[in-house]
Amino acid sequence: DGFIKIRNLVKEYKLNNGQELLAVNDVSLDIEQGDIYGIMGLSGAGKSTLIRLLNRLEEPTSGEILVRHEVIDKKKKKSLGYENKNILKFNTRLLREYRKKTGMIFQHFNLLNSKNVADNIAFPLQISGWKKRDIKKRVDELLEIVGLSDKKLNYPEQLSGGQKQRVAIARALANNPQLLLSDEATSALDPRTTNSILELLKDINKKFGITIILITHQMEVIKKICNKAAIMSDGQIIEKGETKEIF
Ligand code: ADP
Ligand code: ADP
Repeated sequence: DGFIKIRNLVKEYKLNNGQELLAVNDVSLDIEQGDIYGIMGLSGAGKSTLIRLLNRLEEPTSGEILVRHEVIDKKKKKSLGYENKNILKFNTRLLREYRKKTGMIFQHFNLLNSKNVADNIAFPLQISGWKKRDIKKRVDELLEIVGLSDKKLNYPEQLSGGQKQRVAIARALANNPQLLLSDEATSALDPRTTNSILELLKDINKKFGITIILITHQMEVIKKICNKAAIMSDGQIIEKGETKEIF
């Protein structure tokens, strides 16, 4: 019953001039497992703030973000089923687990320029404590998924924008996330490259069942891959539903 439920989420910034700004104003959304959920709006609508709240890079002023969470019996090592948990109440351990299972990609890729492609992708696995041999195997697997096996030893500056985004996607997938958050991932790319990245995201969603939440100012992106969409304006959701019903 619901993969992510956002309830009455509010983020208020106190500005230097003493005024308050409602960047996210009473937002409620239901995201089902397997959705590619697009959030569209003009610059300043509150999209980035919303996505940062979803990853807890930012704390809300009020509201809830309920995420379906698997409860595991540690002694018997078996699943006891699922319950909805408010990520805003996660302790450090649960938050770390949640972040590990949440991949993120960005408009400007955010790769480490001093590391080659393989080492960029290996980075989150090293942080998670994977063994060297397992990392090598997993990196090769990820390179194949994003179609960059031949660029393994290249450095980011030797890659095109589309290739850089593929590296970033591989890195985001490294820990087998259940959720992928995309912040204007195709906004810096030309139309043809945009299409190939959108196709890749669609593939990943289908093949691995990863739920994707993406924010964009481009209606084309929503129409092309999102089954559901919401339109944001001045911090509020002014429309939401199945993409084909909205457009
Ligand atoms: P979008 O991603 O849709 O362009 P943002 O979430 O970046 O919108 O911004 C929403 C509103 O919140 C804007 O008016 C922006 O200026 C404001 N805002 C964003 N971050 C901060 C911040 N750290 N401090 C103050 N205001 C902010
Ligand atoms: P933990 O934080 O519980 O120690 P890890 O970070 O070591 O978990 O690994 C995350 C998950 O990926 C675990 O379920 C682990 O079994 C699995 N895993 C570890 N190495 C590999 C690998 N080479 N290929 C596929 N899955 C792996």
